Amino acid sequence: MNEILIRANNISKAFGEVKVLNDISFELKKGNVLSILGPSGSGKSTLLRIITQLERADRGSLYFNDKPLFEDDGSKANYSNNKIAREIGLKTGLVFQNFNLFPHFTVLRNITEAQIAVLKRDKHEAEDRAIALLKKLSLLDKAKAYPSQLSGGQKQRVSIARALAMDPEVLFFDEPTSALDPELTREVLNVIKQLSEEKMTMAVVTHEMEFAKAISDHAIFMEGGYIIEEGDKDSIFTAAEKERTRQFIHSMS
Ligand code: ADP
Ligand code: MG
Repeated sequence: MNEILIRANNISKAFGEVKVLNDISFELKKGNVLSILGPSGSGKSTLLRIITQLERADRGSLYFNDKPLFEDDGSKANYSNNKIAREIGLKTGLVFQNFNLFPHFTVLRNITEAQIAVLKRDKHEAEDRAIALLKKLSLLDKAKAYPSQLSGGQKQRVSIARALAMDPEVLFFDEPTSALDPELTREVLNVIKQLSEEKMTMAVVTHEMEFAKAISDHAIFMEGGYIIEEGDKDSIFTAAEKERTRQFIHSMS
């Protein structure tokens, strides 16, 4: 049995009066892929933003390797100190729908910047790592290019390389292909698939059902801030219990 890397218990979050996450609980095992499915507005991005510390939870607990990022004390989520939060943050990477590359930096510098600034690697070490990743993602010839000179699929592969350069223990993807044409979608999905074959631990928000089914070990279906159903790949993609889950997967396939 794989070790559990992330354990989320009853995470809740409201924006003002609007509850966008209600008692979200799940586990992610090392080396596994979790897909997070659900219609627009169901809270998927907010969940990823809480896990990657871009947003704060109101209630619930979240553990990485049994260490709490926050823990519910019966009335609210209490966050761990900055040192622990930072330590956990260094283990998580997030790939966005819209790439979020620095437009005024070359591809190479986009990948080395945080390695140097955050991980304190020296420039040579950071460049060696970046070049190895560019090679792996078939982007070596783009090292000196600027983001505006790349296709959407290339931009997204650069942002995946940038995330990998930080040596995260877990990678999160928030609709990584939603901004791409179908033919560019394929090249990005292939990279994520390759990472899953290398046993990278990942959670992926996606509307690409065939892809999700192919790479996931486990899936959760969310709607209206609730987990409607969760289960292993086969139970969700081929034999979902809830009519609503089946209907959603069918409508996206
Ligand atoms: P999804 O990614 O599944 O489409 P989101 O997590 O983006 O869902 O949004 C869930 C709900 O929370 C939506 O109703 C959205 O409008 C609302 N929401 C998200 N971010 C904010 C915010 N910063 N302020 C207020 N409401 C927000
Ligand atoms: Mg979203």
